Amino acid sequence: MRIGCTSRRGWASGAAVAAVVGGLLWATPSVQAAGYRTANFLVDAPTEALARKIGDAAEQYRHTLSLEWLGSPLPRWSRPCPIKAEVAPHLGAGGATSFVFDRGEVFNWTMTIQGSEERILDSVLPHEVTHTIFASHFRRPLPRWADEGACTTVEHPVERARQHRLLIEFLTTQRGIAFPEMFAMREYPADVLPLYAQGYSLARYLIDRGGRHKYVAFLTEGLASDDWSAALQRHYGVPTVAQMQSVWLDWVKQGCPAPPATIAAVAPATQSGWTPTTRGQSPDPVASAPAPAAMAATPRRTSIYAMQARRTGADPQR
Ligand SMILES: [Zn+2]
Repeated sequence: MRIGCTSRRGWASGAAVAAVVGGLLWATPSVQAAGYRTANFLVDAPTEALARKIGDAAEQYRHTLSLEWLGSPLPRWSRPCPIKAEVAPHLGAGGATSFVFDRGEVFNWTMTIQGSEERILDSVLPHEVTHTIFASHFRRPLPRWADEGACTTVEHPVERARQHRLLIEFLTTQRGIAFPEMFAMREYPADVLPLYAQGYSLARYLIDRGGRHKYVAFLTEGLASDDWSAALQRHYGVPTVAQMQSVWLDWVKQGCPAPPATIAAVAPATQSGWTPTTRGQSPDPVASAPAPAAMAATPRRTSIYAMQARRTGADPQR
């Protein structure tokens, strides 16, 4: 079964996907592309300098995000993960990572990313690298909300704030997904954006209350038992998936307040927020009204999220 983060790749052509699936990506000569190889990644980017920058950043994220999520670095992969990068200033930010699970192993990585250099480095890459860390760790598919939600928590604050705005829009236009249904989803729904927005919001809620390691422990237990209510009860003290929905919804209605200090104290890894780049921004953009200068400088950049929001009928799955 080939799975991965596919829903944001509205920009990826069918031909490109077929090339990836057929393993032809690197056999196809590219006029401009430049390659760069690191221990775990093989980058194809428009210039040598970009390939180097993306490859080094991917390795750095692989290391630091493994520590963030798992508490230890990932072992080196037996074969590098190819990254195909399209980089241009006004390109919508997006990415797709796919891989194959077979008998508890992960094979045939492919990652395609696109966007401005800045957005690739501060959002798309950490998102996609987190997918590879989860695949390597769990070695089986995760519920989509939990996978995409977690990966979005490591994106730039601007992207996370956008997810929150979309969430409010979905919840007020009957596009929310009932939690029992969302917890059971192994594939992307036809209306995929609410899954991203709700997944991110719930992941944020849980991580704020227990940190990233606990989130991974919760997923481990839920995957093993397929009893998500029991896993929620054990790790977060919420007895059922349905009650999780009502607790989360109340929190959203209250404006997603930070947890009480006593609860926050047990989750030191997340209280500073994950900030992939040091821009002096608030780790919680939703709560901070005035946009810092660095954020205000890029208010109009196109995002794949916005692009997809306009094509609600598009089927994101292959
Ligand atoms: Zn993803």
